[in-house]
Amino acid sequence: MERQVRVRFAPSPTGPLHIGGVRTALYNYLFARQSGGKMILRIEDTDQTRFVPGAEDYIIEALTWLGIEFDEGVHVGGPFGPYRQSDRKTLYKQYSDQLLADGWAYYAFDTPQALDAKRKEYEAQKKTFQYDCRTRGEMENSLTLSADEVKQRIERGDHYVVRFKFPEHIDITVHDLIRGEVTMNSDLLDDKVLFKSDGMPTYHLANIVDDHLMEISHVIRGEEWLPSAPLHVMLYRAFGWEETMPKFAHLPLLLKPEGNGKLSKRDGDRLGFPVFPLDWHDPQSGELSSGYREKGYLPGAVVNMLALLGWNPGTEQEIFSMEELIKAFDISHISKSGAKFNVEKSKWFNHEYMQMLSDKQIAEYLKPQLTEHGISVVEHPAQVADHGSQVTTQYVEKVCAMMKNRINFPSELWETTFYFFEAPKEYNPADLKKRWKAGMTTHMNKILEILDTVPFEHDALHKAILDDYIVANQFNMGQIMNSFRIALIGKTVGPDLLTFVMVIGKEETVNRLKKAVETIGEIEV
Ligand code: GLU
Repeated sequence: MERQVRVRFAPSPTGPLHIGGVRTALYNYLFARQSGGKMILRIEDTDQTRFVPGAEDYIIEALTWLGIEFDEGVHVGGPFGPYRQSDRKTLYKQYSDQLLADGWAYYAFDTPQALDAKRKEYEAQKKTFQYDCRTRGEMENSLTLSADEVKQRIERGDHYVVRFKFPEHIDITVHDLIRGEVTMNSDLLDDKVLFKSDGMPTYHLANIVDDHLMEISHVIRGEEWLPSAPLHVMLYRAFGWEETMPKFAHLPLLLKPEGNGKLSKRDGDRLGFPVFPLDWHDPQSGELSSGYREKGYLPGAVVNMLALLGWNPGTEQEIFSMEELIKAFDISHISKSGAKFNVEKSKWFNHEYMQMLSDKQIAEYLKPQLTEHGISVVEHPAQVADHGSQVTTQYVEKVCAMMKNRINFPSELWETTFYFFEAPKEYNPADLKKRWKAGMTTHMNKILEILDTVPFEHDALHKAILDDYIVANQFNMGQIMNSFRIALIGKTVGPDLLTFVMVIGKEETVNRLKKAVETIGEIEV
């Protein structure tokens, strides 16, 4: 019988969740949803020395923001709880004891000093010390000490650890859904610590026990865990759980935009893009690491971008909603090699997702920026006192509709649209020098005259200004229209000028143009 799919995302709360971790959560989620399975959030906090307050809440907030939902977990409960390993603490000792009793593990009493001395001794011979089948016979453990001695040491409360006892000279094969068969010889593997005398299991023991008890069917996690997989396979064997051992899929690393290294926290700071989903204020150092959300990325864009970092749909399609990802996702299309992070591409995704928002939604982003610049937004035109300090919601939405294709992020809205809301405070000197040539005041006065006499409509103004005045008189089109633009906007940027004129209206156009003639007129050359 096919097992029910049950997958888990099992972060350790040691700091903010890196986007590589977010991608792991996402792939688990897509896989769970497409197979009608369950998605579980388990917090692996057995290493108390690395515990960071706030990290668990951060993880939950980030995944919730991205729309990655859980069926069971530390924040939603469920039938296999508790889902935080520190709350399961009392459960692990019996499993450690079972391995000891069955000869799969042994007590080791070596002090940190003794281990250090051993390391130095090996270094002196240009060798590296590893606690394994070759060296365990020279150390202080239950394999070398008498049973009585071991008993005494434990009874008097000596510190100890329980180590896994790898059988010698065997090949251990991990069947990986992405990489195929990965085989390692047990002689190369170190006898990892599973349990400590303070009563805490290590990651390896707790992870395997919990995956078993929580009936996890697939372990989808980062490539950095591949070296631990042979130990995990052996633990399933040692416990007699091989029959229900989960299937493994180790995801490729996320790489730096340049070079081949792993994408690190520092890269984000250095290259100016976030590597965390949300802003993170480090509780110890107070340092701020920036997040996608605060940078103005939309959750859909982040999900879409991450989904394609390491997985491809086998088609040209690039834009995927979460629903589409759930349908299209396929573990066999995950690449083996690392996926290079691409900053420009992530901006492109956000641009595309911004375009999918309604004008009303975009206007909501722009409104607070307007308030910041002293412009209030009112609902009805009747409330508008004087243009410039008050605009209607309808006007803001119209501006957004016209300009949204120029922005990647909501934060760019003001700098992209400000001239729809305020007259130029200054005129760009370089643009003026290039465009505002002798006689320009005369041309601008002529445009003022046309505005006064011709119906205020796009086509009528186009004919009167461009055809009947500029072209018919063989004037310099670029210079006149660009000077007109400088007069209205302050520099030579912006959308089609007459379309812009139609949006700001006749009165505002005339005012801006008159002011420009007065201010700049004198400096004409
Ligand atoms: N707690 C581990 C981590 O932080 C989980 C690894 C796994 O999924 O087995 O990545």
